[in-house]
Amino acid sequence: ACPLRWPPEWSVKEKIMKAEKNKVVTFHYTLKNAEGEQMESSREGDPMAYLHGTNSIIVGLEKAMEGREAGEEFSVTVQPEEAYGVRNDNNVQRIPLKRLKGIGKVQVGQILNLQTNKGQVQVTVLKVGRFNVDVDGNHPLAGHELTFDVEVMEIRDATEEEVTHGHAHGPGGHQHD
Ligand code: ZN
Repeated sequence: ACPLRWPPEWSVKEKIMKAEKNKVVTFHYTLKNAEGEQMESSREGDPMAYLHGTNSIIVGLEKAMEGREAGEEFSVTVQPEEAYGVRNDNNVQRIPLKRLKGIGKVQVGQILNLQTNKGQVQVTVLKVGRFNVDVDGNHPLAGHELTFDVEVMEIRDATEEEVTHGHAHGPGGHQHD
C-alpha cells in the first residue's frame, strides 16, 4: 500500500484565522470624511493592532471587521452614531481667558487640554474674544460620516495577558510604561 496520503494532513487542518473574539487584528486604514477628504492614515507608520470584541476601535469599524481574514481589503462607511457620536451643542462653552494662563496666545482652531472637574478634556478653540474664549468639547470627528479603507494585515490569537488586559500588546497596540 502506498504510505503517502494526499493531501497531507497539515494542509487540511490549517485553519484560516478570522477576526473574532480573542483575536488580535492588525490593519492599515485610511480615513476619509463624507467629502472624500483624507483625515487620517495609518500608512505613515505602523499598522494598528486591536483586540477584537473589546470596543477598542469605533463600533461601526469593528462590526465591519467581523469575520475578515488577513489580506482582505474593504471599505466601510460609518454613520456618526457608530463612529464618534453626534455633535452636542451643550459642549460648546465660553470660558474666561484668564483660566488659560500659561498656555500663551490662543488661536482659532487650536486644540487645548483643559483640566475640569471631570478630568482632562480636549477642546477646539472656536472664537477668541478679549476676555473670553469659545471652545468646543465635541470630538473633532463628532457628527461626521466616516469612510474607512481597510487592509487586514494579520490576525493572530490573543495571549492570555492580552485577554486579561482587554487590549492588544506590541507594535500598533497598547504600550505599557
Ligand atoms: Zn496590557
